[in-house]
Amino acid sequence: MFSSSLKTIPKTLTTKLNCQRNINAIPMPSKYIKEVWGRVHSIDSFTAIDGDGIRYMLFLQGCNLKCKSCSNPDTWSYHNEIKNMSSKEVIKNVYKYQNYVEGITISGGEPLLQPEFVSNIFQECHELGLNTCIDTAGQSLPKNWDMILPHTDLVLFCLKHIDPLKYYKFTGMPQIVAMKFLETMETMAIPYYMRYLYIPGYSDDYKDIDKFIDLAKSMKSMKAIEFLPYHRLGVDKWKNMGMNYELESVPIPSKKNIDEIKNYMINSGLKVF
Ligand code: SF4
Repeated sequence: MFSSSLKTIPKTLTTKLNCQRNINAIPMPSKYIKEVWGRVHSIDSFTAIDGDGIRYMLFLQGCNLKCKSCSNPDTWSYHNEIKNMSSKEVIKNVYKYQNYVEGITISGGEPLLQPEFVSNIFQECHELGLNTCIDTAGQSLPKNWDMILPHTDLVLFCLKHIDPLKYYKFTGMPQIVAMKFLETMETMAIPYYMRYLYIPGYSDDYKDIDKFIDLAKSMKSMKAIEFLPYHRLGVDKWKNMGMNYELESVPIPSKKNIDEIKNYMINSGLKVF
């Protein structure tokens, strides 16, 4: 995912959500939840980013996008130095931190690609009273998200680009799948933050920004826009993996440029942080 590692979701936006629970989630005792195995990239047991409040973060291995700005290209491969863990092992580990964390966030890679693993972990987390969240680009088969969303309290959704052709050029995948995922979150009334990637020269055309604003304003379950300015935190990984980093000449946006677009969105009536 394009990490929001430089900031946290402000308290004003999170307070209301902290206690929120997906009304579709049916509680299930742990002993009835099957143990399944998943491909895990890494774990961060205590973080204040990527979800509401203090989170236990699980990063999964495997992604079907190839975003040009990806900070974690080492998560792309399904078989790259993977750590296989079972859902019960994850829960045993989460249990150690349950007094300190408010919830679990599963990121990637793309968490929707391991539906049974994510779904079973989320069901067990609900048993522990923890909030569940996925950080996703919405790219998978609908049958995958049908398994996960009923047990998800919050989604961090990144629509990589509002323009279908630019989306395809930026990620290598069709935008229509992500739009279908967005529609499904709306139908199921799942609360979500929609991420806006600001990359100079890629996503700063005001015609595109206007389209993004129109879409965001028509969404009912969206809580706010999370504004993600371009950063270069993952560049060394691209180089170490021998891959060509196409955004080499893209400048880090200035505060003035960030504020300009952010304020444009805020003045249109959107909540942006
Ligand atoms: S969706 Fe995949 S390729 Fe895109 S930023 Fe996330 S991990 Fe990287």
